[in-house]
Amino acid sequence: MTNSIAESRNAPACIVCGSSSLVDVGDIAAADLVRGYRKRFGLDVSGHFSGTAKLSEMHCRACDLRFFSPIITGNESFYRALASLAWYYMAEKPEFAIARRFVKTADSVLEVGAGRGAFAAYCGRQYVGLEFNPEAVAQARCFDANVIVEPLEKHALAHPASYDVCCAFQVLEHVADPKQFVASMAAATRPGGRVIVSVPNEAGLPGGTINDFLNLPPHHVTRWNDRSLGALATAAGLSLEAFESEKVAVYHHGWYLAVELCKLLAPHLMARPGNRVRLGFTDYALWRALWLLGRSGALILRPLLERTDRLRGRGHTVLAVMRKGEPTTPA
Ligand SMILES: [Zn+2]
Repeated sequence: MTNSIAESRNAPACIVCGSSSLVDVGDIAAADLVRGYRKRFGLDVSGHFSGTAKLSEMHCRACDLRFFSPIITGNESFYRALASLAWYYMAEKPEFAIARRFVKTADSVLEVGAGRGAFAAYCGRQYVGLEFNPEAVAQARCFDANVIVEPLEKHALAHPASYDVCCAFQVLEHVADPKQFVASMAAATRPGGRVIVSVPNEAGLPGGTINDFLNLPPHHVTRWNDRSLGALATAAGLSLEAFESEKVAVYHHGWYLAVELCKLLAPHLMARPGNRVRLGFTDYALWRALWLLGRSGALILRPLLERTDRLRGRGHTVLAVMRKGEPTTPA
């Protein structure tokens, strides 16, 4: 997990593809972000936005990336506070099972933003995790996972073209320079090896959800879909091997129903550029009520939801598998 702070007061070009075909599609008041984080998580993020009144949501028409400008990422104390929330580091992520299909037992694996190192259980013995949070690193020892505190760039310089697979799950959306980040992952990967990244899918549940503060700065600063991930692969000199858009996970059925109810009953609360945050009493309470209704409904409708194909590809996550140079071993 990155914990650097980066600010860019001007965003003349797309941070992935370099195109100047950028559109400012909507603003979020920094004060609303501060209020939202305080209200939902009891976190004070005001220090991140000193001197910044608003953030603009920029949309690149060339590659479909969305990012918030100025780019303001979470600092160390922000991530320390988040890590103290019991649910923050998911031991298991659904995309682990997808990624596992692209990792052979004999492969050497580097995971960036490894958290507690839960993905090590899906790999062979040659696993190295990089993580900034010392508490997460300490917990990784309980999993017997080899997780160390070291920045990706430094590790890539010391271990060039060393790993069969380099992966980062739910990390890219936190970093200020995703192109450089994936280029560093590629630098640590051997020719023919794989770079695997997963991110929240803007074309899935996260894209339509209002007041989703953890999908907003300073936590998440970019928003991705298939197209922008494809552009990222190209920008980092990688070829795209596969995309996997996750189905709505069982524990997100309530979220899915809340968004569907929102579409039907309160379409003005559906998230879109310029409408990502609504903190007025009525709107905030209405969305919370829909959320609770969705969760209750999910318990009743679970057998039905588990069988339906409507949830395919509309879940939280999209995963991209990229290849460095020509494959040297069969898939
Ligand atoms: Zn672009």
